[in-house]
Amino acid sequence: MNVGVIGTGMIGTEHVRRLTSRVAGARVTAVFDVDTTRAVTVGAIAGATVHREAHDVVDDPAVDAVVIASPGDTHADLALACVAAGKPVLCEKPLATTSGAALKVVEAEVTYGRRLVQVGFMRRYDGGYRQVKAALAGGRIGDPLLVHCVHRNVSVPPTFTGDMSLTDSLVHEVDACRWLLGQEIVAATVVDVPHSPLASPELRDPRLVLLETERGIVVDAEVFVNARYGYDVRCEVVGTTGTVALDAPSTGAVALDGGRVQALAMDWQARFAQAYVDELQAWADAVRRGTAEGPSAWDGYAATAVTEAAVASRGTRMRVDLAERPSLYEGQSSP
Ligand code: NAP
Repeated sequence: MNVGVIGTGMIGTEHVRRLTSRVAGARVTAVFDVDTTRAVTVGAIAGATVHREAHDVVDDPAVDAVVIASPGDTHADLALACVAAGKPVLCEKPLATTSGAALKVVEAEVTYGRRLVQVGFMRRYDGGYRQVKAALAGGRIGDPLLVHCVHRNVSVPPTFTGDMSLTDSLVHEVDACRWLLGQEIVAATVVDVPHSPLASPELRDPRLVLLETERGIVVDAEVFVNARYGYDVRCEVVGTTGTVALDAPSTGAVALDGGRVQALAMDWQARFAQAYVDELQAWADAVRRGTAEGPSAWDGYAATAVTEAAVASRGTRMRVDLAERPSLYEGQSSP
């Protein structure tokens, strides 16, 4: 399967590396980035053609499928171009920056008649999250009542501004909870907390968000993108007879001076390294079978609708009013 990659920044570069050396049955044959120097450097990893425009990647007859790893505000238009060309696409999150734009991708896919779009919610491929999902599916903790989520980064680049901790970070918690619980989120409330002096004034950081599901489960999600000490993602589901918590992989423990120090990953690349490989492999396998099985355009739309409500919240409870779910997406809680 020949893959074209649009956007060769942090995650695009790693996706090119993974598709080149870790994913069976796929290779990168075309790339594009507005930063041509970066595109040439990253394209060389795979021996790929460097195109002049993003749409040239989509239209390249030698490209069977596309990965979109450019900034979020470019995603919806590029995903629409892929659907129009009938090409499968793995679009990094968020699917779009507004729910309206995300819904257009859903509608285009419905008109096309089969799924082509997978959204890069790679936590669904993480071993720890899958164990939580299995425990819930097996009824081991009874009925879920509450979920506690934590999403902390050491720091973020200067391009991470405004409400991106909601639109770009919280969106992972939103998708993970929708997937774990098998329910839509129907309301979001952002609770005011003090601003960290270590965060840029361009951001509100940390954020504390309450999400409510359609059957009344409440999720509290902390997003803190300047936590400094490490990359720390937690999730604990509290049920009627027990709880299940995400097992964060450790990079080793040091016992010294009467204490034990458990090392943390320092960034998302390290923490979810295997999940990204497994996500790409599952995507490539599905595309080669002529199917699409991972997080769908509907999942991308629903998650964006929730983060949009969170952005609008400013302390008040905002309802999330989703469009009617098309039958194309019925019964899907994959992978
Ligand atoms: P990044 O390092 O800034 O890379 C984005 C690249 O795309 C940059 O080289 C940028 O060039 C380029 N670009 C800008 N406009 C473009 C366009 N119209 N067409 C093609 N390329 C364009 O950002 P990143 O961290 O890799 O993030 C990229 C996307 O992946 C974001 O949507 C982000 O949310 C998502 N992401 C997902 C995960 C995950 O866990 N699933 C993790 C990280 C990122 P300039 O720098 O010159 O603008």
